[in-house]
Amino acid sequence: MQDLASLKAYLDQRLPAALEVLREMVGINSFTGNPEGVNRLGRFTAECFAPLGFQAEFVPSTKPGWGNHLVLTRSGWSGKSIALVSHLDTVFPPEEEARNHFQWQPEGGRIFGPGTLDIKGGTVMMWLVLSALRQHAPVVFEAITWNLFWNSSEEGFSPDFEHVCRGRLGAGTLAALVFEAEGRQGGEAQLVVARKGRGAWRITVRGRGAHAGGSHPFGANAIVQIAQTVQRVAALTDYARQLTFNVGTIGGGTVLNRVPHEATAEGEFRAFAPRACAEARKALLALAGRGEVRSPADGYACEVEVELLEECRAWPRNAATDGLCELWQQAGAQLGLTVRGAERGSLSDGNGLWDSVPTLDGLGPWGDNDHCSEHSPDGAKLPEFVEVSSFVPKATLNVVAILKLVNGAKVTS
Ligand SMILES: [Zn+2]
Repeated sequence: MQDLASLKAYLDQRLPAALEVLREMVGINSFTGNPEGVNRLGRFTAECFAPLGFQAEFVPSTKPGWGNHLVLTRSGWSGKSIALVSHLDTVFPPEEEARNHFQWQPEGGRIFGPGTLDIKGGTVMMWLVLSALRQHAPVVFEAITWNLFWNSSEEGFSPDFEHVCRGRLGAGTLAALVFEAEGRQGGEAQLVVARKGRGAWRITVRGRGAHAGGSHPFGANAIVQIAQTVQRVAALTDYARQLTFNVGTIGGGTVLNRVPHEATAEGEFRAFAPRACAEARKALLALAGRGEVRSPADGYACEVEVELLEECRAWPRNAATDGLCELWQQAGAQLGLTVRGAERGSLSDGNGLWDSVPTLDGLGPWGDNDHCSEHSPDGAKLPEFVEVSSFVPKATLNVVAILKLVNGAKVTS
């Protein structure tokens, strides 16, 4: 590689073009539930990477009504590959963007807009990093097979995407690098080295309806039962084990003169440790069965049903991820940046990949307020933005660290 100063100068020179790509991407609404928009963004993304020599494949989502996943590939000669992972979708429906005037808006050193940070800014970071590698480390760029993956529906539940990735990762895959936003604490860059797993659940209680005036004792009140059951769910939270249960919604009953025959509650649990997730699931399912709320007249018992709606496995701390983080820390030290590995409670596509290949996340730019579209007049509520000045230092860090990864694998020697 040529020297660091020329790498930074190259990235500085490419930044306006990268921001122009970002502006166009942010202008395409790609809400998870807007497949036309997601597919349009997928095609545009493929066009942006085509000059770097990438071939596009559009893989339909297994979920009807969602857009296509995007896979871009550039084959190298070394038998080694690196996966770069992002997603196409955002959490903002077009109506919400219009209602809140939430669009591309540079202000000071920030750019506000849907997906500027999560995750179109991350996609543009990938483009910058690959452009710089081609320019400054052409041998490495040509040697590696680059597999780029975009989930069409990361913000929804997209269990098929990990299979799209895994099915295309060769035995020589050195890493899966995920371009979700960087975290910051006290000015230090935080990469993501672990994420919680999540289980979503629904509890349905079936009691026995009765006239609340004429035959109250014959009723088995489903609301009273679910009120007791959700207390037990809440009590499963164990902060010492970083295990949380959230009762998210509750409902039941129909009219006031009726002992309610049905009630439901939904929620989720999260934990870093796969074992804690497994035990959480077991404890939750054990709440099913006959409830203690019974009709006074004849002891008819409420029935409690527990369903696990979807599950995303945990990404715990592990040696392979820590090894990658170490390379990014070494690169940071070389550049005068402090880099740390952090554990995050939210999910990413890293959850589905870490146990196949060494995975590191948080490689996108820095910004804040992701998933927020509102702007209050007093500025107390600000929408999602990306910090423009974070692109070049982070791209430099990513390039230097990727070169360490490739050199360590003795790909080109
Ligand atoms: Zn994201």
